[in-house]
Amino acid sequence: MKAQAPIPDATTQRSAVTRSASAQPASGASSLTDSRPEAIAQLELADSVRNGPRMIAQRQQLRGMFGDIAPQSTGTSATVQRVAMVSAEAFANSKKQHDRDRKAMAFAVENGAETEPTDELSIRLRNSCEWILSGRLHLIALTRTADSEFRKKEKGENTYFPVLEAADEDVVHGQPKYYVNDVDNWANVFPFDDATQGGSSGNMIYVFNASENPQEIGRTLRHEVQHAADHHDEEVKTPLVTFKTEYRAHYYQGTFSESTEETVEKKGYTWNKRQWAVVSQIMKNYTEILEAWNRNEGGFREKVVAYVNPDTEAINKYNSARIENFYLSVAQVKPDKLDYPYRLKKFKEEIQV
Ligand SMILES: [Zn+2]
Repeated sequence: MKAQAPIPDATTQRSAVTRSASAQPASGASSLTDSRPEAIAQLELADSVRNGPRMIAQRQQLRGMFGDIAPQSTGTSATVQRVAMVSAEAFANSKKQHDRDRKAMAFAVENGAETEPTDELSIRLRNSCEWILSGRLHLIALTRTADSEFRKKEKGENTYFPVLEAADEDVVHGQPKYYVNDVDNWANVFPFDDATQGGSSGNMIYVFNASENPQEIGRTLRHEVQHAADHHDEEVKTPLVTFKTEYRAHYYQGTFSESTEETVEKKGYTWNKRQWAVVSQIMKNYTEILEAWNRNEGGFREKVVAYVNPDTEAINKYNSARIENFYLSVAQVKPDKLDYPYRLKKFKEEIQV
């Protein structure tokens, strides 16, 4: 099996020395015994490498791939440098792919911000792009690593780079961040469930493999910016709050065009077709919402069915940075002394004294 062939490197050279040291009795009686401190140190090092968690993990990994490996008398010579699993060319290609993904996202945002809108969808896209360019949210292009299949055996999910940091950095417009061609090195890579096109985390929006589906970038931007624009995170997080923000984001992203006039009967309720298309998609992708539907605490189902037109609870349905500024300004206004509820509250406080 080729994969077991040791790569001549510092590790195997060390093991050659330790073999000659360990072949001798420890008593020091033989003139051939290598009892030099450096030889003993090397022996100990080889043992600790052989029995360290990394080597144990590697042996388990290899067993999974190739079946049991014949016992090796030479200890560390069984080491397989897993770095060799991916060719230098494949690694270089993944970096090029990442550059293409970043460019595709940067192009989509810059182009979208300059496009003269003609309908609701293009207004929302233009606004979402302006939102990004204002620095309120940062963009991350996530690219699959060349060794993703190999790492998947360990983690069960595809591997992407770069990692999502609590970034005040826009990775799409900033410097590219690559990873190391070594499957044991998890710096700047992470396993990720890529069932969706993208998502958001904190103040970041990420898109998987953006250059492969450039037409999807706009959808992701419309969707994810709405989650920020609706200020749903100012409410206590409940399944209903999560459902409503997802309903808006899905409805506005530009995927659903079913009729709102025709109705369907599903799950014992009457929905309009587009409403049901959105709701069923959400239930498929968000376990917590499906579970809340099944539990039906506090009349959850009725509330879901009643939220037909997303605009009725959207404070910023076009993802406008200008509306956002207005919202933030209004939020800072203190109650005026002429404000009736304020005066009434004060009055009641005073008469209690
Ligand atoms: Zn969402």
